[in-house]
This record gives sequence, structure tokens and C-alpha cells, in this order.
Amino acid sequence: MKNLLGSSITDLENVALDYGQAAFRGRQIYNWLYNYKNKKKNIEQIDVLPLEFRKKLKEDGFKVSELNYREKYLASDGTLKLLLSTGDNEGIECVGIPTEKRLTACLSSQVGCPMDCKFCATGKEGLKRSLRVSEILDQILFIENEMNRKVTNIVFMGMGEPLLNIDALLLAIRSINEDFQISQRKITVSTVAVPKMITKLSEKSFEILGKCQFTLAISLHASNQTIREMIIPSAKNYNIKKIIEDSKQFVKSTGRRISFEYLMLEGVNDKLEHADELSTLLKGFQCHVNLIQYNQIDEVEFKQTSSKSIQLFQSRLFNKGITVSFRKSRGLDKNAACGQLRQNSKNNHKNK
Ligand code: SF4
Repeated sequence: MKNLLGSSITDLENVALDYGQAAFRGRQIYNWLYNYKNKKKNIEQIDVLPLEFRKKLKEDGFKVSELNYREKYLASDGTLKLLLSTGDNEGIECVGIPTEKRLTACLSSQVGCPMDCKFCATGKEGLKRSLRVSEILDQILFIENEMNRKVTNIVFMGMGEPLLNIDALLLAIRSINEDFQISQRKITVSTVAVPKMITKLSEKSFEILGKCQFTLAISLHASNQTIREMIIPSAKNYNIKKIIEDSKQFVKSTGRRISFEYLMLEGVNDKLEHADELSTLLKGFQCHVNLIQYNQIDEVEFKQTSSKSIQLFQSRLFNKGITVSFRKSRGLDKNAACGQLRQNSKNNHKNK
């Protein structure tokens, strides 16, 4: 694969040297590639390079961007969701979430997802394939180009289970950190939890990145094993107590606090007895619970818990000594929740 994205400065110096150019030509490519002000699409645009060199790189199959724009959805609060297509014509989604000071990019790590969470549109389609490093990074370029701002924060909360694409994930984090100049502390990796992979994530982070300073967010969504298996079928392979044990080990080896995501589903996991059970499960563990209001989607039977009930749940956890916050999903109005643009686009094509 000859996509330039994800290449380090040394990689690009070597590319220049391989073509009989001076090493500084590689540094020129590097500076051009990772400067968000350049609307990067193809090699011809790197006008600091001699025309002949650009032509040669293009002839030899080097690329800057390999994803294509398919559709976009702009929510009333400024959140932008993009549907992009890969070279093999699969659809993936990414989201740009702006505030005054930040632009957070929510990235996909796979085409589809094998985890089959019952509340998720992406999970309905199963896994097509994992994304390459350059395809993960390309999503950042699309968001920056569309929103005309530099991305400041990254969350791996789009399509796919990042820990099932762990090598590409960590290589992408290396580039985001060193090349895109976004600190690891501004990166969040969200997982629904895969057996053995929490431990592997810390080990491989030290091996590939030399440190592990990003935030790990575990989608717990339940206070006990029975409820968890009901909403996340893959949870049957990984007991909730073992997840907490492995999480404690992750905190010990990395020094980073873990965030537990808890999607509030009416009548399923949102009663005060569940808050009590959750606080017992997390007792003595320095972590953070993030309550999320569910965005209802047509093909799923779950319902949204009211804001008032979420606040009661939150107070109950707080009174039991748990650090907890409540996040309303942004920009995900009807039909724009995770995986839905892709679903809608496919249905529209089918209906044509
Ligand atoms: S919620 Fe995440 S892990 Fe679960 S099916 Fe959807 S994309 Fe996959």
C-alpha cells in the first residue's frame, strides 16, 4: 500500500531518497501532508515538489487520500456526520463534533462490526473488514476539509470494535500523536470489551507507542452479567467481573483512569437498583462513569430513558461515591445515529 498518510518523517525522507531526491523533499511532503490548511486530495497538489517527482510518485501508485465522499448530514448543533466510501466501495462513517474550543473527530476502525450490540445500527450488518491505518487517518482529513478547522480531539467511537483492529489502531494513534500533533491525552479509545484485549492494549501501546496515555472508555452498559448479555450478545464470553478486574490491571500498568460508558435504556438498566448494583461493582475503583442518553433508532426496540430518570440515577451513583457525568448525544437526531447514514444510503440504493 502506497498511501502517504501515516508515514513518519523518516519514512518520507526514505521515499524521497529512493527516487534520487534530496531528503528535504521528504520533509516537504511531510509538512504539506500534516498541515490541516492544505485541502489534501492528491499528489499533484504538493506544489512544493518538482513536477517530475510528483508525476513519478503518482505513476507508481502513491496516494494521499483513498476514501471518497458519499453523503453528509449536518445537525442543528453543527455536528457533521460524513458517509465515505472506501476503494472497494464499502461505506464508513465519521463525525466532526465542534465546540468553541475543540473539534472532536469520531472515527471508525472497521467496515461494519462483528459485536452485534442490540442497540446499534452498525452491529446489525456484521463485519465486512478492518480499516487500514491510512483509511482511519483519512477520516480526519475529510472532517478538517469539510469543517475548515483543525481536529483537536479524537474518539474511536465510530463503526467497529477498535480492539479487533489493534495494530492499525495503535499505528494510527502514533501518527495522530506525532504527525497530526494531537496529544495522546486527547485521544479516547472506546471498546465494548473483548477477552484478553484490555491487557493486550496496554502491552502493545508500550511496545508500539512507548507510552499509553490515551483514555480507555469501556462500554459497560449494564450493572450485571445477565443484563449485559441481553444487550451485548458477545458479552457471554467475557464476564463483567473479569472486565473490572482487567480494567484495574490496565489502570495499574498505565496510570490512566478508565471511563465506563453506560447507555441508559428505559426499563432495562436504568432503575435505582441498577445504580446500587453498579456502585457495588465499581467500589474502590478509581474510575469515571459516563451516562449516555440513548438515541432511538427505528429498527431497534429499546427506548430512551427520560432526562429526569437519568439525573436520579446519576445522583444515586454520586451519593455512593462514584464519579459520574451525564452526556447527551450530540448531533445525532433521528436517523443519524451510529451506522444509520450507511444503512439509509444502502436502503435508498436498494429502493431505486
Ligand atoms: S456499539 Fe460499537 S461495538 Fe457494538 S455493534 Fe455498534 S459499533 Fe460494534
